[in-house]
Amino acid sequence: MSPTLTTSNGTTHIVNGTKASTSNDTKPKPAELDASKLIITECKTLKPIPPPEGLVYGKVKTDYMLVTEYEPKTGWSAPEIKPYGPLSLDPASSCLQYCPNVFEGMKAYLGPDGKPRLFRPQMNMERLARSIHRAALPSFNTDALLTLIKRLITLESRWIPNLPGYSLYIRPTVIGTRTGLGVAASDSALLYIILSPTGPYFRNEAGGSETISLLAVSEHVRAWPGGTGGHKLGLNYASSFLPQSLATERGYDQILWLLPEPNGGRKITEVGAMNFFVAVKREDGDVDIITPSLDGTILPGVTRESCLHLVEAHSSTSNSFLIPGFPATLRLHAIERTVTVSDLEIWAVEGNLVEIFCTGTAAIVASIGRIGLNGLSETAAVKNRELVLPESEKMGPIAKGLFEALGAIQTGRLQYDSWSVVCS
Ligand SMILES: *Cc1c(COP(=O)(O)O)cnc(C)c1O
Repeated sequence: MSPTLTTSNGTTHIVNGTKASTSNDTKPKPAELDASKLIITECKTLKPIPPPEGLVYGKVKTDYMLVTEYEPKTGWSAPEIKPYGPLSLDPASSCLQYCPNVFEGMKAYLGPDGKPRLFRPQMNMERLARSIHRAALPSFNTDALLTLIKRLITLESRWIPNLPGYSLYIRPTVIGTRTGLGVAASDSALLYIILSPTGPYFRNEAGGSETISLLAVSEHVRAWPGGTGGHKLGLNYASSFLPQSLATERGYDQILWLLPEPNGGRKITEVGAMNFFVAVKREDGDVDIITPSLDGTILPGVTRESCLHLVEAHSSTSNSFLIPGFPATLRLHAIERTVTVSDLEIWAVEGNLVEIFCTGTAAIVASIGRIGLNGLSETAAVKNRELVLPESEKMGPIAKGLFEALGAIQTGRLQYDSWSVVCS
C-alpha cells in the first residue's frame, strides 16, 4: 500500500505511516456530547405500571435508561437509550475507590394537557456542570444533555402518575471510570440517567404530609468552608447516614445540620438534604423569610431559589403574583443571611418565630414542627431542650402557600415566567 498524504486544513501530513506535523497541528478533538447521534434500543416487553399509591421514593425504575461514555481520546460516545439494567465496571474504577460521583435531582410533571414538563431544568444543568468541575470529571454540553432528557421523558411519559402530588423523578448521574488505583482525577466517565415514579415524599399515617421533626447535631458536620457541600457530589451523603440513623433512633425525622463558628455560635446550614427557611415577624408587622446565604456550605437548591423569588414577587408593587392564601397586604421579605441556633431561640422567646420549613425537589416544601436541641440550647427558656413551633402539628401557612404555588407552576396549571418547560 502506498503511503497516504492527507492534508487537513493544510496542517497534517501522513507520510510513510509516520505523522509529521507543523506547529499549529491539533489532534482530532474528542467528540462533544451530541444529541443528534442518539441510538434507541427498544425493550422487548414493557414493565407493568405499579399502582401509584404504594410507590416508595426511588424504588421502582422505568423501562429505559440513557447512557453515554467519555474516553479522553474519542470523547463522548453516541448517547443510547436502552433497557434499564446493570452497569459493568472494572473493580478498580475511580468511582468505586475515590468517589468522583455527581448527580442531579429533577422531576417531570404531567400538565393538564397531558404533556410532561420539567421545572427550571436549566438550573439543574448549570449545577451539574459546576459539580462536574468540582469533581474534576470530563465536561459536556449541557444543552445536549437537556435535549436527551426531554427525549427520554417523552419516551417514558406513561410512567408519570396522573395524580396530584405525583411525578417522575429524574436522576442524571456521572461517575468516574478511570481504571487504576493511582489517586488522580478520572479522565474517563460514564453519564447515565435513570427515572423513578414517585408520590408525596413525607407520608404520615394519615397519608398526607404535615410536619417533620429535626434533631440539631454538632458532633457531625455536613459541610465546611472550602469543602464540597455546595455541590451535588455523592460523597457528601455517605457521611450523613450514621448521624441520620442516630436521629431516627431518637425519634426525629431529619437532621438539622450546624456549623460551629469561631465565636462559639452554631450556624444553621441545611435540613437533611434540603434547604432551611425560617419565617420571622418584624416590628412593622411584615414577615422576613430567611434562608442561609450561599457561602459554599449550602447546596444552591432550585426550590430554594424559587421560594426566594416567589416571596419577592408576592410583595412587589405590581402584585402580579400572590402566594395562595396570603393577602397582598401581608408583605414578605426574602432574606439570605447567617442564622444561628441562638437566633432561633431568641425569636422563639420573643414570640416572633412564625414558621420553619425546608425545601427540595423531592418534598418541594416540608413544615417543621419541633427541633431537638440535643443539649445545644443556650437559653433556659427553651423547655426540655426542644424548640416547639406554634401549632406544631400543622403545615404552616407560608410553607403551604409556597408548596401550592410551586405545585401549580410545576404542573403547568399556573404560568410563571418560563419556569415550566414542556418536553417535546
Ligand atoms: C438537592 C439538595 C437540595 C435541594 O435542591 P433542589 O434543587 O431544590 O432539589 C438541598 N440540599 C442538599 C444537600 C441537596 O442535595
